[in-house]
Formats: sequence, structure tokens, C-alpha cells
Amino acid sequence: VKKVNGKVAKTAKDIQQAAVLGAGIMGGGIAFQSALKGTPIIMKDIADKALDLGMSEASKLLAKRVAKGKMDAAKMGKVLSSIRPTLNYGDFENVNVIVEAVVENTKVKQAVLAEVEEKVADGTILASNTSTISITKLAEALKKPENFGGMHFFNPVHMMPLVEVIRGEKTSDETIATLVAYAQKMGKNPIVVNDCPGFLVNRVLFPYFAGFGMLVRDGADFQQVDKVMQKFGWPMGPAYLLDVVGIDTGVHAAKVMADGFPDRMQHDFKDPTEIMFENERYGQKNGIGFYRYE
Ligand code: NAD
Repeated sequence: VKKVNGKVAKTAKDIQQAAVLGAGIMGGGIAFQSALKGTPIIMKDIADKALDLGMSEASKLLAKRVAKGKMDAAKMGKVLSSIRPTLNYGDFENVNVIVEAVVENTKVKQAVLAEVEEKVADGTILASNTSTISITKLAEALKKPENFGGMHFFNPVHMMPLVEVIRGEKTSDETIATLVAYAQKMGKNPIVVNDCPGFLVNRVLFPYFAGFGMLVRDGADFQQVDKVMQKFGWPMGPAYLLDVVGIDTGVHAAKVMADGFPDRMQHDFKDPTEIMFENERYGQKNGIGFYRYE
């Protein structure tokens, strides 16, 4: 136990083995980054197809590194073999830290977190990669909320340096220290933030998406808006970014923000992202969103 600025800061737990729940856009990315930086990881999903996709994405990213001469084939094999795809909870009792990255839905996340808590050893640290849902709320499903916090990565995980580590009402200092240490071990820059819908980054991003929705509703062409935002200097515009994020994830997260900040984030019209969602246009993940992908 160390004293930092007069506060008692617990030291992080040792992290030898990690796990991620969900092998989608984020779960696959987290597994890749953890393995790349030397922490073996179990990647659990409920769908075989998702596991195959997660592994093939990791393999593609590694092959690019080999092609660029940044890594040799032997190292690629070693990294790939340290990601273990699975449909069950075998070996979870030996895991030190688990990141949940399933769909952005409070009930589903609470059920998954409660389920995994039963499978792990007492001191295992749990985290959620939720974009917007309160960590304190998710912790209500847990017997040991002190061992649980937020660990919010950004997409694509291998490229984005920031990780928000979120302190829920009952999150212990040791949990925060462990999540910060894991993020650093993964080569990321963690910041510790308080718990509220959207944390820090999405409190900025979702009003921007809402502004985009209003602009399109007022008659703007979304492709023009994207082009203008790129000329403004941003790497991509809002429509393309929503396709990258996943339209379904965007709509679910926007709902959490609207519930959390009803005076500021609620609107009485259907915005273009909601219309995309109703038409099963989920973005890059299913090949069609605002744009079409081959
Ligand atoms: P996704 O739809 O790509 O993947 C979700 C995965 O979870 C799917 O493979 C699904 O099969 C799996 N799953 C569902 N129920 C499960 C269960 N019970 N156990 C194990 N796996 C299960 O979604 P995503 O974009 O990877 O988002 C995952 C989480 O990360 C969400 O909470 C989202 O808000 C958050 N997030 C997303 C982004 C982004 O840009 N997409 C960025 C930061 C955080």
C-alpha cells in the first residue's frame, strides 16, 4: 500500500492471465492487444461465428505486421496461440482480470457479469467495456462490487491510445490500480474517471452525434457533412464513424445517454441512426449502414 498525494493507493494485482467476454468488434480488439503485449487471454462468446471472426481479425492484423517486417512469423504464431477462443467458462478460475464486452444492454451485461462472477476465484477483477452504462448500476448484479470497475477501450482498440478506467460507487482502489496497470501493460494511456452515463468521451461524442442527426433531419446530405468534417480536420465524419462504431451499439448507447440526461439528450423525432437500425443497417459489421461495404 502506497501513499499518493495523501491518499492511500493500493498496488495493482499481478496480471498473468486475462479473459474477455464477447468476441465482437471490441472483444476481438481487446484480445488482440492483450496478446500482442504479452498477457494471454481467453476470448469467450456465445457464437462460434463470432469467435472465428475475432480470430481471423487478429490473424489479419498480425499478418500485416509480419508483411511490414515489424514482427517475424514465429512471434505471430506465439501471439495468436495466446488468444484462446471458447464457448464455455473452462479455466476461468485461473484468470486475474476479465473484461466484459458483450452488447450494450444493462440486463444482458448484468446477467453475464453475475454468471462469470460464479466461475472465478475470489480475488478476480472484473471490468465492463460499456460505452455509456453506469458502472454502479451494473455492479448491482454482483456479490463483490468492490472487485468491479469500468475499462472503456476505443475502436479500433489496437490504434486508439486512450482507455477510460471508471470508478463505480463501490469500486476499490485495488481494482482501479489493477485496471490502470492492465491498460498500461497493453500499451494504452488510461485515465481514471468518475461514473456517469457516457463517462467523459461519450459525453462529448453523443451530443455531436445528436447534432449530426438534427442536421440531417433539417435536410443536410450526410455524405456532405462527412466531407466537411474531414476538411475541418477530423479523420472521419459522423456518419462514417457511426458505421465503424456499429449502428446498433450507437442506438443503444444514445438511449442510455437520453435516459441519463433527459433534459439535454432527448428528442421527439426519429433520427437517421434510429431509422438505419430499424432497417437492420448496422454499419461495417453487416456490410451496410450509412454506406455500403464490400
Ligand atoms: P459487437 O456487436 O461487435 O459484439 C458483441 C459480441 O458479444 C457478439 O460477438 C456477441 O455474440 C457477444 N455476446 C452477446 N452475448 C454474450 C454473452 N452472453 N456471452 C459472451 N458473448 C456474448 O459489439 P461491440 O461493438 O464489440 O460492443 C461491445 C461492447 O463494447 C458494448 O458495450 C459497446 O457499447 C462497447 N464499446 C463499443 C465500441 C465501438 O466502437 N463499437 C467502442 C467502445 C465500447
